[in-house]
Amino acid sequence: MKKFFIYLLLALVALGGLLRFSIEFQGPQNLAMKLLASFSMQRVADGLPNPDSLRIFICGSASPLGQSDRAQSCIAVLTPKHFYIVDSGAASTANVTNAQLPMARLQGVFLTHFHSDHIAELYELNLNSWVLGRPEPLRVYGPKGVRRIVAGVNDTYELDRSYRIEHHGEDLLRPELGELNHKTIKAGVILEDGDLKVTAYAADHDPVNPAVGYRFDYRGRSVVISGDSNVTGSTRRIAANTDLLLHDALSQPVMKKLSESASQAGLSRMSKIMDDVLDYHASTTSLVKLGSEVDIDMVAFYHLVPVPANVIVEQFFLRDLPENFVLADDGDWFELPADSDEIKITTNGILNTFQ
Ligand SMILES: [Zn+2]
Ligand SMILES: [Zn+2]
Repeated sequence: MKKFFIYLLLALVALGGLLRFSIEFQGPQNLAMKLLASFSMQRVADGLPNPDSLRIFICGSASPLGQSDRAQSCIAVLTPKHFYIVDSGAASTANVTNAQLPMARLQGVFLTHFHSDHIAELYELNLNSWVLGRPEPLRVYGPKGVRRIVAGVNDTYELDRSYRIEHHGEDLLRPELGELNHKTIKAGVILEDGDLKVTAYAADHDPVNPAVGYRFDYRGRSVVISGDSNVTGSTRRIAANTDLLLHDALSQPVMKKLSESASQAGLSRMSKIMDDVLDYHASTTSLVKLGSEVDIDMVAFYHLVPVPANVIVEQFFLRDLPENFVLADDGDWFELPADSDEIKITTNGILNTFQ
């Protein structure tokens, strides 16, 4: 029996070596390319499963501070009939497209505020969904100021749109669908679309005014997405009885240590910036306190300040967290089946179910 496994292992090593060697040649390369192209296009054609759930996809969980390969702020919200994205930070559109999210039915983008790490890829979302056949202009919702943002993006990319229309033709790329439109919103219910209700609430991100967060309700399930904010009375009210709160989170011990070290190293500008942001985002301790005061089934930290560059920083975020708190990462799915208490979280392909 032992000999059999030794021979099997040797055969597998030999086969692996042969395969590795064979891709140096054009024949095997052609065959591999044919299989890969067919597999990837079939995957696109099949699309994602579409269960009757409120589903959240993390397309960006980073803040601008720190180093990692995470994308900046971006959260996708899907139901069988709805698809919206909250914020569109740098590098996030690649996560959206790699996950095969249904870009042709993207209905709108909700902006929480206009810091660059929340708006950088607005046009990428617009372009991707336009090219893939979105039937209506992409609407950008946001507080006062969104009109300027949308006008600026439309203006900046006017030439890009004209080249693409000329190249592919107006039948494929209808010009009127290539321009973003905007809707200025205030706190309160801002959208009721079938079973989906979206409510905006005031965020505290001073001196960024106005800034908002959003709550999505769908068939007995709900998620609140904070954008950048401290915990306030509005947070308490909007998050009461919600299933999932996605909140920006800052680790004060890590930021203070980094600021101190920057100062000692003579990096006074960096030290000041790190000190300035301390009251600019919700601290992990304020969020744990919120979770103890308000009925929230699960809290997920995103827009981490600083972005964990290593496992030690990650451990600081995880310190003293209650069981119903998690750290969100790019590529995570949170699924809230309609009319149920379940929360299914898929991270790196591994599914965990919480009741
Ligand atoms: Zn911000
Ligand atoms: Zn931000």
